[in-house]
Amino acid sequence: MSREVRVRFAPSPTGPLHIGGVRTALYNYLFARRHGGKMILRIEDTDSQRFVPGAEEYIIESLKWCGIEIDEGVGFGGPHAPYRQSERRDIYLQYAKQLVDAGWAYYAFDTPEQLDKLRAEAEAAGKTFAYNYEVREQLETSLRLSKEEVEERIARGDQWVVRFKMPENEVVKMDDLIRGHVEINTSTLDDKVLYKSADALPTYHLANIVDDHLMEISHVIRGEEWLPSLPLHYLLYRAFGWTDSQPEFAHLPLLLKPTGSGKLSKRDGDKMGFPVFPLFWTSPTGETARGYREDGYLPEAFINMLSLLGWNPGTEQEIFSMEELIAAFSLDRVSKAGARFQPDKAKWFNAQYMHTLTAEQFAPLMQPVLKANGIETSDELAGKAAEIMKERMTLTTDMWDLTSFFFVAPTEYEEKLAKKQWKGDNPALLSELRGVLESINDFSKENTENVVRAWIEAKGVGLGQVMNTLRLALVGAGKGPGMFDVTEFIGKAECLKRIDAILANLKPME
Ligand code: GLU
Repeated sequence: MSREVRVRFAPSPTGPLHIGGVRTALYNYLFARRHGGKMILRIEDTDSQRFVPGAEEYIIESLKWCGIEIDEGVGFGGPHAPYRQSERRDIYLQYAKQLVDAGWAYYAFDTPEQLDKLRAEAEAAGKTFAYNYEVREQLETSLRLSKEEVEERIARGDQWVVRFKMPENEVVKMDDLIRGHVEINTSTLDDKVLYKSADALPTYHLANIVDDHLMEISHVIRGEEWLPSLPLHYLLYRAFGWTDSQPEFAHLPLLLKPTGSGKLSKRDGDKMGFPVFPLFWTSPTGETARGYREDGYLPEAFINMLSLLGWNPGTEQEIFSMEELIAAFSLDRVSKAGARFQPDKAKWFNAQYMHTLTAEQFAPLMQPVLKANGIETSDELAGKAAEIMKERMTLTTDMWDLTSFFFVAPTEYEEKLAKKQWKGDNPALLSELRGVLESINDFSKENTENVVRAWIEAKGVGLGQVMNTLRLALVGAGKGPGMFDVTEFIGKAECLKRIDAILANLKPME
């Protein structure tokens, strides 16, 4: 690639970042890193009506959790600062004026009421109203009004917008790195608003093009919903005389509902019981939405799952670290077709990652869970407990249930197991086993197992019978790892204590 790769993720802070948005950020990031380029975070907050406090912070935190690193942008600075569009408002007006002066755009003074009336009239006639080449000459615009009249209206404070003067009957030829060559006739397009005097702010289209140009963006990688805007964006580059440095475009396929029909929407998660946001979200009015982080997903697994929704490596490989994704990613392998989101697959990915974590990696995940349950322990024991049980984990939220018995003695005994085990000779056998355990000095798993097995053999009793009774005493339920993992972990004193407790507290069953 001859040009320096500079890509941007340009979310609007209108609410929490949807996982489709995270995927857009991820593909931009992978592309930037793959080509030794820069990843820019630009906040597109020019739509003051839809601005939601807290959304920008949420976006930044989400990217951080995902491991998507930003080189320049809001919260990171850089040579093109500021990167928040509301702080760049002075820049846009001059560009809007430049387009008007060059005849590519015009002032329009129509009031919302006038436009509503035109819309209603068109509907009554069975048509849809479009602000386009057919009608613009008859409306309240600088195309019809004299220069003096326009100046006077602006000077007296009438509200105006600048609209793009979409050429009539011209074929715009566009290239998309994913979709290939696309053509469209401009007569099917309307005159989009570029700038509004009411809030002295540009619209998305103007701000986006001006900033991509000024920030020297080389590739625009964004969601498919922006494809219909591409002809206008091409024409804006031409109108500004920036065609030579125009970025290349890549429109990513939609994320589809698990059923495969329709776009995955913000509401689908609640309806179908899975998160559609990376992090838990609380809106300014107190509404909440689930997040992958809080639901027990590891960021690496979440990213791995997302990476394959729309891109494929061309091999059977499914597990990819971020480094491996960077090395393997290319836009050529992004599909045109929508990618169906599969909540079970997300769980599968998470389980794969949980199963490979080491005790050291588990320790920082376990410590907050243990603390929340009132347990103070070393990182070593915290990590080890989870490591022993990891094969049974799907989500990090499974950790406590699967490991709690390592840290807390049973306070009650599972009825089914108690009924089966706590009868006949078993309490007496357990009492005898207590003496055997007490005599062991090397309480390592291997040694304890050898001694206990030898004792069981000498006594001629069943291994399962003894082990299940011991499990009832130490764990309180028919779950957990091998018994000698438990004895080693909790240690001799705790083993004896738990045995004494069941002998003292649980009456043998009949
Ligand atoms: N602000 C737009 C969005 O929220 C950016 C679209 C683009 O990347 O051009 O998706």
